[in-house]
Amino acid sequence: MIDSLVEINNPYFVVDLMYAGTKQNMTGKAVYLEIGFGNKAFVHKELWDKLIKLVPWLETHQRKVKIFDAYRPPLAHQKLREIIPQPGFFAANPATSPHCRGTAVDLCLIDENGIELEYPTLVDAYNPFYAKEVQSGNSETFFDYLKKAHHDYNEGSKQALRNRDELRELMESIGLKALPHEWWHYELPHGREDNKYPMIEY
Ligand SMILES: [Zn+2]
Repeated sequence: MIDSLVEINNPYFVVDLMYAGTKQNMTGKAVYLEIGFGNKAFVHKELWDKLIKLVPWLETHQRKVKIFDAYRPPLAHQKLREIIPQPGFFAANPATSPHCRGTAVDLCLIDENGIELEYPTLVDAYNPFYAKEVQSGNSETFFDYLKKAHHDYNEGSKQALRNRDELRELMESIGLKALPHEWWHYELPHGREDNKYPMIEY
């Protein structure tokens, strides 16, 4: 494995990668297993240096972080894109994806029983109905649903909105950047063209 990546192996981080299984996976295929990568979360060491700073807060609040995606092998990215080629899902060029550079994580908080806190959607806006739609090429209705994943979405459960905002405050406090339209995605604040973090082959 490449020197710049660190495997997440810490009791405060539960690794359950969506593309290593099918239960919360928009593509419906366990692509990480198919390519022999498995359920392993690697991140750029600079990203891990920030994530580890969450531990005192997690300990105090009896929370853990559940990791749904981290470093994504470019081969996996390519296979995911073959399943869902519509624009707005998987970047055409994996070199521009922060997941393929090890600089992004998809996550949420879980409680002491391992139960996910309530958020406006599941991670990745997963929904079994829309997953089937998207897999058959219909993404229009899903994009309407995806409004709920925006940080400025302001309807529905107040608790879900509070949990989303708390997560953002927490992740920004350790120096990570949010994406406006995916409440679960956080990344090192580098530009898409920054050569310091190239795509990593597995
Ligand atoms: Zn992501």
